[in-house]
Amino acid sequence: MNPLFEQLFTKNQGSKIFLSFTDLNKTLTYDKFLNEIKCTANCLKKFGLEKGDCLVLQIEKSHHVFTIYGACVQLGIIFIPLNTDYTGIEVKYFLNDSECKIFITTTKMLKELDSLERQRSFNIETIDADYKGSFFSNFNENEPLEFIEGLDEDDTAAILYTSGTTGQSKGAMLSQKNLLSNALTLSKAWEFTPSDILLHALPIYHTHGLFVATNIALVSGSQIRFLKKFDVDDIILNLTSTTVMMGVPTFYTRLLANIKFNKEITKNIRLFISGSAPLLTETHKEFENRTGHKILERYGMTETNMITSNPYIGERKAGTVGIVLEDVEIRIADLEIEDEFKKNGDIGVVEVKGPNVFKGYWKKPEKTKCEFRDDGYFITGDMGFLDQDNYLTIVGRNKDLIITGGLNVYPKEIETVIDRDNNVEESAVVGVSHPDFGEGILAIIVKKKGHSINIDILNETLRKNLAAFKLPKKIHVIKELPRNSMGKVQKNVLRDIYRDEFSDTNK
Ligand code: AMP
Repeated sequence: MNPLFEQLFTKNQGSKIFLSFTDLNKTLTYDKFLNEIKCTANCLKKFGLEKGDCLVLQIEKSHHVFTIYGACVQLGIIFIPLNTDYTGIEVKYFLNDSECKIFITTTKMLKELDSLERQRSFNIETIDADYKGSFFSNFNENEPLEFIEGLDEDDTAAILYTSGTTGQSKGAMLSQKNLLSNALTLSKAWEFTPSDILLHALPIYHTHGLFVATNIALVSGSQIRFLKKFDVDDIILNLTSTTVMMGVPTFYTRLLANIKFNKEITKNIRLFISGSAPLLTETHKEFENRTGHKILERYGMTETNMITSNPYIGERKAGTVGIVLEDVEIRIADLEIEDEFKKNGDIGVVEVKGPNVFKGYWKKPEKTKCEFRDDGYFITGDMGFLDQDNYLTIVGRNKDLIITGGLNVYPKEIETVIDRDNNVEESAVVGVSHPDFGEGILAIIVKKKGHSINIDILNETLRKNLAAFKLPKKIHVIKELPRNSMGKVQKNVLRDIYRDEFSDTNK
């Protein structure tokens, strides 16, 4: 038994198209896709990989990510995709922490890693563009591996790394059951069918583009229109020949900012879905006025997959993330007092339980224990409330996570790099409202007495150490950070002071 493999990769066979590309003459059928998965599985076997081994992947968005994911599920290999923006220094951490057996990456990253350290305990193979790279030396399209590893529903299918407030990333272990239950629930809730064509411009190293979008399309036998990245003109070009679009709020604000985006273009779309960050009520309303479509907003996180969704049929309430999904349970708990729960209307921390909730953090049993209640509920760290109809509204995050352009950034990681500068006394990084990115990153620095800070040098250090999406958009040097009576830096005060920092930034 390997239910995830059966439901995602072998159920929908035949000449039906799985992937279509912007060049519409180029397609990949479900049959060919499965054959390619099995050839890739053969290839992984030749590299010596076995059930339970970790495979880390950091390549550009291409269909190879899907075939490697499929081959991992076929063989019970743990699939670990990485954000393509991560620098060599960051990647090194993930490779060590995961204790991976193989790292598949680009020649560019291979060179960067070589410059950092040549000795390593795992194999590295490259994939640069279509079928180019050392990985393909073991790939033969006439050699599919028919063997399918038998797996339990609790076996780990994938690990997705999330950032930690302490600055250290944690690997969320997602089981076969976690992924499959959520894909089936969402496919049903959003009424996906084999006639759907999903416009896919999301990255596929993140739960949204990989598990929400791709797994749903696979269990439903739908087609994916595969765009390498989000580009407004490309989206507008493809909207008329697709039926569903999934995106982060930034996609929708950027579409609205384009005068070519109108009702006529969206007439064949049956559903627009948004998630990963808050969709402003104004955006929801403006979108409806322009196109007649009410965007369906949903809510979830890497550790839990999707938790709530506005209904496909029924009221989609702007500003809310909808009602709890089938088989999932949520409650709103008091932040401080254990076992005290909030009545509808009152704000508390969102807790969740169900087949969608992850197994725990990789090699971090203590951390895992802290994040779960004794009765099995996971503490999301998101603050929210339920209304009288049990629609959930997220009001903010307990932790100081910044979501910029749909991607999570934890301030601590940036602060750590800044604080390494000899001239810096201390720093605080906050996210404040940004018209394009949702939140823009702002670094507030206090310099050491008698020192001066060279912002250009500091920016250069940040660029060397951090992925582009984590770089502060502005840096301010101030006299001292606001603190409470316990000596803790009051980031809420900083957010208030700098609330309008990006308000006149051009979209
Ligand atoms: P990630 O693990 O990257 O998927 O990020 C999860 C976090 O994104 C959640 O804990 C929320 O804070 C936030 N999030 C996801 N969807 C929404 C939404 N629809 N509205 C507000 N915040 C959201």
